[in-house]
Amino acid sequence: MAENLYQITMPTPYAVGDVHSYVLIDDVVTLFDAGVDTDDAWQAMVRQLSDVGLTPSDIDQIVLTHHHPDHTGLIHRFDDVQAIYGHAITNLWLNQESSYFDHYRAFFAKLYDQFGVPETFRKVDKTINNAFRYQGKRPVTHIIDEGDTIPSLEDWSIIETKGHAQSHLSFLRQTDGTLISGDHLLKHISSNPILEAPLEGEVDRPKPLLNYRRTLTKLQSLDIQSVLPGHGDIFDYNSKLIQHRLTRQEERAQKVLDYVLEHRLEATPFNICQFLFPKHYEKQFGLTMSETIGQLDYLEASGDIEAVYSKQVLTYKPTKQSVY
Ligand SMILES: [Zn+2]
Repeated sequence: MAENLYQITMPTPYAVGDVHSYVLIDDVVTLFDAGVDTDDAWQAMVRQLSDVGLTPSDIDQIVLTHHHPDHTGLIHRFDDVQAIYGHAITNLWLNQESSYFDHYRAFFAKLYDQFGVPETFRKVDKTINNAFRYQGKRPVTHIIDEGDTIPSLEDWSIIETKGHAQSHLSFLRQTDGTLISGDHLLKHISSNPILEAPLEGEVDRPKPLLNYRRTLTKLQSLDIQSVLPGHGDIFDYNSKLIQHRLTRQEERAQKVLDYVLEHRLEATPFNICQFLFPKHYEKQFGLTMSETIGQLDYLEASGDIEAVYSKQVLTYKPTKQSVY
């Protein structure tokens, strides 16, 4: 483990299993991420803080990698914390901004029409309510983004790492190359680039997989030594891991391209999702649909396929470049 940093591991009610926070003990004590809002997670947090000689009231500030509930959940249980740092989108979630979530629901209703998604799979409300239940229940006090510096963490750079979440930030300690990567870079699994609504007033929806590729590539230009992730083992950084993630994604995209070549103008995104994830799409609809759209966005951006709307429903056709 990197100098003066300690890992805290807590259970979650999610399929991903345990989640990690990291506590940095310096003149100021900083907690990076804060588990999920359950009593079990809180007990695990308190116990492991005491293992390193701390109580919850010793935490001075909290820094959040992204808005997902398994990373923000306990922030309101730290009564003495004055400063909470996170991305502007993290704050929209923590604040449960009603106008944003009205817009969010309306956006997905329209999007799912275009994607050909049957009624039974439309669970955006449930997803949002579930997030509210387990996430932290107080707002961010300081909005941060790449280029900002957090007082008392001057040797840490904030790196924008959108992809898994539009709010995602990672934190790199310049002095020793320690990266707190949240869910952006994990050892054993690739991150799900999860589909989100654009912000109010923005026209185009985010393209999470394209962001994920861009920000993974960005990491390759940084001096990273060890990675402290939100899930799974701590590991020594190796840029081959990023190359591996990118290559695996390109292989999956090729599978989607072959399918579009075969089913030109017939397959909706929902059909393609069923084809890609025949065993998982029903139970994990949000994740598998996000992954599918990611591959389609990637193929569209690469110039291999073209989107065609007929009666508001989306299908795809190969471009000349991809017909062989
Ligand atoms: Zn997570």
